Amino acid sequence: MTSTALPTTEDLRGRARTALERVGVTVPEGGGLTARTPITGDPLFELAAATPADTEEAIAASRAAFLTWRTTPAPRRGELVRRLGELLRDHKSDLGDLITIEAGKIRSEALGEVQEMIDICDFAVGLSRQLYGRTIASERPGHRLAETWHPLGVVGVISAFNFPAAVWSWNTAVALACGDTVIWKPSDLTPLISLACDRLLAQAAEDVGAPRDVHRLLLGDRAVGEKLVDDPRVALVSATGSTRMGREVGPRVAARFGRSLLELGGNNAAIVAPSADLDLAVQGIVFAAAGTAGQRCTTLRRLIVHRDIADTLIARLTAAYNKLPIGNPFDEDTLVGPLISPAALDGMQSALTRVQAEGGKVLAGGNRRLAEALPRAAYAEPVIVRVDEQSEVVREETFAPILYVLTYDTLEEAIALHNDVPQGLSSSIFTRDQQEAELFLSAEGSDCGIANVNIGTSGAEIGGAFGGEKETGGGRESGSDSWRAYMRPATNTINYSSQLALAQNVSFL
Ligand code: NAD
Repeated sequence: MTSTALPTTEDLRGRARTALERVGVTVPEGGGLTARTPITGDPLFELAAATPADTEEAIAASRAAFLTWRTTPAPRRGELVRRLGELLRDHKSDLGDLITIEAGKIRSEALGEVQEMIDICDFAVGLSRQLYGRTIASERPGHRLAETWHPLGVVGVISAFNFPAAVWSWNTAVALACGDTVIWKPSDLTPLISLACDRLLAQAAEDVGAPRDVHRLLLGDRAVGEKLVDDPRVALVSATGSTRMGREVGPRVAARFGRSLLELGGNNAAIVAPSADLDLAVQGIVFAAAGTAGQRCTTLRRLIVHRDIADTLIARLTAAYNKLPIGNPFDEDTLVGPLISPAALDGMQSALTRVQAEGGKVLAGGNRRLAEALPRAAYAEPVIVRVDEQSEVVREETFAPILYVLTYDTLEEAIALHNDVPQGLSSSIFTRDQQEAELFLSAEGSDCGIANVNIGTSGAEIGGAFGGEKETGGGRESGSDSWRAYMRPATNTINYSSQLALAQNVSFL
């Protein structure tokens, strides 16, 4: 199915301008960066990209603001985040519009992304009163040992196009509560939503009397990001994007002994066991694999199905895929919007060509849509491909809605297949057998940072730490105790006796 009504670029430009104006952004005319919409594939605005001098000024201003912000009591810092959360609530619809226009997400997913931002603000407000350190039993009489968490410094946030606002908020809400200042280099594919978020945070800062420079935005391409990566005044570089990007960023930050937090690509799988509730599994699989047009880091890319139920499950999945409404993401019936760019469609088609040359069989989808009506946009049918083995192309992350289906006979074999990829982000098992579920969640089971039971791989809540192992980069963001990455611990030994007792019974003098 293709949803019918298609907006024009002029409609989308007007809608973006209205949303921006409602959050207080006057579209900055300039040069160096083109804001586009994947809905039609056309340019919307020409914006000014940050120059090296702008970057230098932003880092200096951010560092200066940090010196004040780190001494502001944490619960006061939380007030800034609370105000940001209120403004995000007020502008949920405007921000959702901008996400749909720039990233192509369907309306409910775009609004869901804004909700995620609101949720992390709530979390970070609570966190601002819970930056706990431990006290530790000292081996010496009259001594106390404590762990104190201090603000870290300037945090450089480099983000990807596919969660153009939520990833920023996971980092920024938590970093601000922790006493850090933030410089944000968003994807050059999503500058408009970034301008809106920056404006709302500036408004929040003004409303609560926080320094404006606790947050700075730098629009531009990777060259702007590279400045943050190399500058020793940036204490933490939190970078979300492809493994290729992380491979460049990680060693460069490490070379100057900076900290990095890497959230990189995934190649997520679900195991479907013979006892699975197939109604639940079908719904979970279709959302995880085809939702967001396959452009989530947690998108389901590999399905590992028990041989006995493979034909039944595949028949149900292909039936669901054949009915997926594809098209205008503002249309309420649409479930699959555009890919971000024609290059992404090329990547999808080239992966399909490779896998078919190896014997992979396309079972549903795979065609381009709307090519005549919108020749500069990239709409594609989500595709299911049956493969016999986990070849090189299956082991890669292709950032498009391709679901590879493999079969298995024993759970041990399924888990081995599951883990035999370079990435380690998200995973799931559909089963009603508790032993199988527990094995999958155990140390011998999934090797991913996210492991789920009876739910797909995507759509995490902010309360739990988010991130993955191996080539996914090892970083953890959002909830749980991820906040520790944004602070530095100090161990304090306090002697409240009048004796100088040395540790390990060392005697001296
Ligand atoms: P990308 O790697 O092309 O770009 C991500 C960001 O990094 C952009 O802001 C880009 O300008 C910047 N960048 C690229 N090279 C850089 C360099 N050498 N130095 C500094 N900055 C650099 O990724 P993308 O296409 O925007 O996003 C899709 C990718 O992001 C997928 O691989 C997806 O899995 C991943 N992703 C991961 C997570 C996660 O939490 N693990 C979340 C969202 C997206």
